[in-house]
This record gives sequence, C-alpha cells and structure tokens, in this order.
Amino acid sequence: MRILVTNDDGINAPGLWKVAESLQALGDVVVVAPDRDQSGVGTSRTLLQVLRVIEVESRIEGVPARSVHGTPADCVILAMETLFPEPFDLLVSGINPGANLGLDVLDSGTVGGAFRGYFRGIPSIAVSVTSLSNVRYDLAARVTAELAKAISDHKLSQPMIFNVNVPNIATDQIDKVEMTTLGPKAYLESVVEGKDGRRVHYWIHHNKPIGDHAEEGTDIWAVRHNRISITPMDPTFISGHGGQDFGPVAQQLSNRLGTNGHQTNGHH
Ligand code: MN
Repeated sequence: MRILVTNDDGINAPGLWKVAESLQALGDVVVVAPDRDQSGVGTSRTLLQVLRVIEVESRIEGVPARSVHGTPADCVILAMETLFPEPFDLLVSGINPGANLGLDVLDSGTVGGAFRGYFRGIPSIAVSVTSLSNVRYDLAARVTAELAKAISDHKLSQPMIFNVNVPNIATDQIDKVEMTTLGPKAYLESVVEGKDGRRVHYWIHHNKPIGDHAEEGTDIWAVRHNRISITPMDPTFISGHGGQDFGPVAQQLSNRLGTNGHQTNGHH
C-alpha cells in the first residue's frame, strides 16, 4: 500500500509526522507538505506563480519528504503528477490541531488536501483533533491507521473522503467511534480593522460562532459527546440535496430565457 501524507500546518507540524509514523506499518509512506502554515486555504491551488520544492530531512527513516512553497492541494498535485508518480492507494491529510466540522470543512486546508486525492480517484482521509492547544495526537494517529487498514480491507466501490475528528480527551474518556453526517456551518468571519500609520488595513478572523443547533448524528454533535466522528463524504455532498424544490424555478428561468425546450442528441 502506497500512502501519501500531507497537511495544512506545514512540514514541521508534529501531527504530520505522528500520522506518517502510524501509517508506516501499512506500507510505503511519502510526505509532501507545505513549507509553512496553510491553514484555512481550502482546496485552492497556486496557478499564477511557480512552485518550489525542497527535499527536506525526513523525521522517519525510509520515508521520503518534500516541502512545497504552496497549498495542501499543490502538494497533492505535485506529488501525484511528478514528484512521486507511482500510483498511491491512499491519501492522508493531517493531523490538524483544531476541529474541522460541518460545512466549515469547505474552508479547511486539511480537508482541501483530501479533496485533491479524491478528485484523482484516491480514497482520502482528513484527520483533526478538536483542540488547538495540548493536542493529543496519539489516539488520532491510531484511529487513522485503523481506518486506513479498514479501507484497504473493504475494497471501496468508489473513492471517498473520510473526515475524521477526534476529541482531545484521554482514550478511556472516549465513548465510541461513530459514522456521522456533516453538521451545519458553525463559524463565520469577523473583521478587525487597524492602521499602519498610513493606511487602514483589515484582518479577517474565522472565529465568529453562529448557531448551536447540531443534531444527533452530525459530526459536531458526536465530538461534543466524546465520540470519534468519521464523516464519509461522497459525491452527494457536492451535488447537494433539495434541488427538486427548485424545479419550478428552472422552468421559469427556461421560459424567461426563451430556451426552446427542443431535445438535442447532446452533440453540437
Ligand atoms: Mn491547520
């Protein structure tokens, strides 16, 4: 089993090496990670400048490591296209200090890295611990290795992303592992204004809590109840639900745009 490991916290982040170490027993591990903190960049790629890669000293014997002056997505694309072109069986992104839950996963660089594996047909795991301080990486690393093993044992009918969130508590305080759905968005942004002596500047902070209504069965609810949350994110996550409610709207737009309703064979 060939496993690519990346993260959004940068090549020196402890969670990256913890998870790489835990996966080593399963096969060949390769680490390609950003050269600096890229938290919050989501799935973004770098298209308007060149990317530099450095062969860094690995912290694990036998595990090649590269740092990229780019995003987690850049790391995955470079690794799979050119740095390590032999096919991977699994992508792991993390371990992130701080939860990645609900619709906030769309902002997450950790999950963004995992999306890039999924887009390329590789089963992908994003893994986070629900605290920014005194982070307990050991359990999250074990969970990831077990999930990786399960994925390779049960051949998936299609590649999927598994978004894992582990409560930052002692293992004996954990209730259980639960398969969850994504909860609602929990945070919005606030803006802090400052002056540098000449001009006004703004900082966007991603820290404005909204609502508190995560239902049972969601990832947010699970970690609040001391459960390890695993959210399998399949393509329905992207296509969304409720489209049928807008059927009449599509008809209305068709009419207003004067589309003729004639069927074509799809070839133009
Ligand atoms: Mn991060």
